[in-house]
Order: sequence, then C-alpha cells, then structure tokens
Amino acid sequence: MRITVLGSGTSHGVPMIGCECRVCTSSDPRDARTRPSIVVGIGGHNILIDTSPELRLQLVANHILHIDSVLYTHEHADHMHGVDDLRRFNERIGGPVPVYGAPKVLHDLRERFPYIFAHQFVGGGIPSLELKVIDGPFELYGQTIVPVPVWHGSTPVLAFRLGRFAYVTDTNNIPEESMEMLHGLDTLILDALRLEPHPTHFNFAQALEITRRLRPRRTYFTHLTHTTLHAEVEPTLPENVYLAYDGLRLEVD
Ligand SMILES: [Zn+2]
Ligand SMILES: [Zn+2]
Ligand SMILES: [Zn+2]
Repeated sequence: MRITVLGSGTSHGVPMIGCECRVCTSSDPRDARTRPSIVVGIGGHNILIDTSPELRLQLVANHILHIDSVLYTHEHADHMHGVDDLRRFNERIGGPVPVYGAPKVLHDLRERFPYIFAHQFVGGGIPSLELKVIDGPFELYGQTIVPVPVWHGSTPVLAFRLGRFAYVTDTNNIPEESMEMLHGLDTLILDALRLEPHPTHFNFAQALEITRRLRPRRTYFTHLTHTTLHAEVEPTLPENVYLAYDGLRLEVD
C-alpha cells in the first residue's frame, strides 16, 4: 500500500490569504500546505480520501494519473469542494466514479452541488458520481476498508483504517470503541492542528496522548496551520512522530 499526502494543511491552507507571517512566507516547501487529502494506492488502484478545493493542483503535482474510488471523511468545505475535478476520471474509468460516504455527507454533497445530479444539465462538464452509503466495513480492490467513527466538535467524522494504516483527520474526540479499532497500526496520520487548544481539533499535546495510547510504529500529524514552522517543530516531537507535508509518500505493508 502506498500513501501519498496530497494536502497537509488546515482549512485556510498555508500560506493563508492575506498573511505574511514567517510560516506563510517560508521558503521551505514543507511549510506550503494545501487542504487535507490523501491517496491510497493498492496494487494498480488509487483510492482518494476527500476532494479538497486544490484537488486538481494536488493530483498534477503528485503525478496521480487516475482515481478509482473516493471516500469522504465528512462534509466540510475543505474536504469536499474540489469534487468537480473528479470528472476527469469518468473518462478514465469509463463510467461514474464510486463515491463512498456517510448518509449525511452524501446528502450534503447532493444539496450543495445539485447541478452534478441534475440530469438535464447542458454544456460544460460535470462529474458523474455513483454515491455509495458507508454503513460498515467494505472491500475495495482486495482491501477491507474499516470506517472508524470519531467526533469533530459535534460533527461526526469517519476515520478510515486499511490494514495497518489509518487516516484520522478532523477530530478532537475518539470514542473508546473507536480507539479499540486503531490498535496494532504501522502508520497513523492524525489530526494535530497546532500547539494551542481548539474546540474541534486535537492540538499537539492531545494528539501525542493518542499516539502514546495507540503506539503505532510511526505517526504523522496533519491539518497543520500557519503557526507550525516544519523545520522548527518537527525536531521537538517524540521519536516516531513526524509532521506530514504535501507530497509525502509512505509505504505500508
Ligand atoms: Zn478539515
Ligand atoms: Zn501566516
Ligand atoms: Zn472539518
């Protein structure tokens, strides 16, 4: 399994519009963070998790030539609003792109992008999507996808476990039953917004507490803000805990 981090930034992205702080003006490419998304490659298939507003730029930059399926974590704009760019894959797949999400997420997708689902649409290009409700673990390309429910303030979010890898973004509360589902990991990508507390995201201290309890072989923090200068913060993290960055590739057995 090959993981590519397409975007490691928070909802504003880094640099943030109108900010000239030292992180937003950093020349270190690891400080340039697009909105959160990853691709999981399994054999010859690519599963995209979330469609960020920078989806096109992310796929081009990372030479991702095809996407076979999409999983949604939740309905927030930074995770969904690049959905139009999926139309490119209709040609490659030769049919609709399978899109998996919780019922509320698929409902919001239909409500926000009605033109995608209006069959009388004329002119321009729209993606053709096949919506598939997630109601428990399912198989894709020989891999079991385990949805792991977590809380993001009062918003329910799905984390995903695929074998010994898990992607757990946008959360400040992992219920005990879900913690149970996240033991024995090789690689964990985990929401850790910033040093300061936040009402709907883990901060670094809370995310470190999760890694202490779950003990994955290695952990990468994601959904990072412009308060984190990569070169300065990463050396302060414990062994086997790192900061994700756009373009990071990880192999997981
Ligand atoms: Zn987010
Ligand atoms: Zn800034
Ligand atoms: Zn969110």
